[in-house]
Amino acid sequence: MTIYDDIVVGSGASGLTMALLLAMGGRRVLILEKAPLIGGSLSMFSRGRVRFDTGFHFTGGLNEGGILSEMLTLLGMKELVEPVFLTKSVQNRFVFEESGKVFEQPPGIEPAKMKFKADFPSEGQAIDAYFEMIASVCNRTPSMNIQENLIAPPNLEEDYVSLDSVLKKLTGNPLLRGLLSGYAMCYGVRPDEISFANHARMVNNFYESIAFVKDGGDGLIMAFKKRLDFYGVDIRCGVSLLPFSDIKDGMVNSFTLTNGESVSAERAVFTIHPQEILSLIPEKSRSRAFASRISSFESSAGFFSVFAKIRNGAVDPEPDSAIISLFPDNDVNALLSPEYCGKPAVVIIKPPHAAHDACERGVCILEPAFPEKIAQWGDSTVGKRSSAYSDYKEERVEAIRAHIAAQLPAYSDVLEFVDAASTLTYRDYLCSHDGSAYGVKQKIGQFNLIGRLPLHNLYAAGQSALLPGVVGAMMSSLIVGRSIIGKDRYGRLLGGVS
Ligand SMILES: Cc1cc2nc3c(=O)[nH]c(=O)nc-3n(C[C@H](O)[C@H](O)[C@H](O)COP(=O)(O)OP(=O)(O)OC[C@H]3O[C@@H](n4cnc5c(N)ncnc54)[C@H](O)[C@@H]3O)c2cc1C
Repeated sequence: MTIYDDIVVGSGASGLTMALLLAMGGRRVLILEKAPLIGGSLSMFSRGRVRFDTGFHFTGGLNEGGILSEMLTLLGMKELVEPVFLTKSVQNRFVFEESGKVFEQPPGIEPAKMKFKADFPSEGQAIDAYFEMIASVCNRTPSMNIQENLIAPPNLEEDYVSLDSVLKKLTGNPLLRGLLSGYAMCYGVRPDEISFANHARMVNNFYESIAFVKDGGDGLIMAFKKRLDFYGVDIRCGVSLLPFSDIKDGMVNSFTLTNGESVSAERAVFTIHPQEILSLIPEKSRSRAFASRISSFESSAGFFSVFAKIRNGAVDPEPDSAIISLFPDNDVNALLSPEYCGKPAVVIIKPPHAAHDACERGVCILEPAFPEKIAQWGDSTVGKRSSAYSDYKEERVEAIRAHIAAQLPAYSDVLEFVDAASTLTYRDYLCSHDGSAYGVKQKIGQFNLIGRLPLHNLYAAGQSALLPGVVGAMMSSLIVGRSIIGKDRYGRLLGGVS
């Protein structure tokens, strides 16, 4: 039996970060991944010559001094990951269909602020106050500065007020409120449910800079793989852990894999959905309060996606555009509600040409979708779903086609749809809990599952632990991983990567 210091369960952005940090901290690490390959939501897939992103399209924080750039430096991956920054306003635009207004967002906080003020000349004060509040939250969140003592975000006053209530106090203009809450699509929580503080921690990065990564999620996975190999991290795919049966003195004594093998490790760190973690802990080893807290977590929004390519011989009518968000309603609360019956929002993501490699990168078109809305097919698996489910998919594809034809007619004959995915597709291919895009819905005042669990050699990190997105998932692993390797080791890693 091989003896490890740490088992890391899950190999998405958070599991890979966790495993690498622990290994860099001198620990013997085993990654267990349920899927056949590592990468989780970073994974890409091919249709013909075209590579498509699944759960990683673009990110903030890759600018010099940005949080993702700093995390990659710490992990010794900075040179292995090549960002492709959006440099022009035209590359990122929000279309508000009710009013026909189009807003472009230039990169950089000051330029974005200036542009929004030019677009809303009578709302200068509100826009200044919004950006000041964002900066203030980020400055008071030590975990956003990885050079400092990395600890979980403090509870600020802004953690207890919603984004929606802040925006309603700042401005009576529903269009401006829509624009300032548009990035809720990047965390899948309604503005009246997310705290202003968590909104600020997420979107500050998107105002600073937005970048794609050369080779997309594959690029990140390859970079992680190189570093994990260097540190001799063992990786097992296609296996997971069985519910714990060998528990002594409040700790799991030995870990049994789904293939029957036993593994000895000092601890296990989970980067999977909290409700999946709960299912491994026997009832007698957890309190009812703990179980009910975890069970009460709701899901963030997910996406219905269409994967497309530029038709052979056709010319991209807007080669510069990279992210186009179509909002049929100014009210982002409505657009992110499962009960909403209007036309859904659509986000079209076209990796910039500079990101193209030998192999073409495809266009992804995302429409908010909610796992509960297709719960009737929840028991089915890939390749074995009913014709009613196929009809649902076909209906969504046609609705998206019509939406694009109405708003971006120049793309009608240019985009060739090659495949589509529902939240069930994501659930099954990404081995996720329910197919939501960002794990647990981060609601105001919620006490997330992060760090040490009631069985003391188990820990939780991942997108549901702190903040969603690749940045949030990686941050959660730095916070928890640091508490495992200790401040001194972490400090030495900050001083210079070996
Ligand atoms: C359609 C879509 C678009 C998105 N777009 C973006 C984007 O552009 N930018 C961005 O930053 N974020 C985006 N996200 C969100 C982002 O993908 C996630 O927040 C982030 O990747 C989560 O990382 P993670 O490691 O916490 O989880 P995951 O990537 O989900 O990794 C969890 C891993 O655990 C494995 N696993 C599950 N259960 C078990 C088990 N019992 N045992 C062993 N292994 C297990 C899974 O197979 C998976 O590999 C998007 C998500 C989706 C779905």
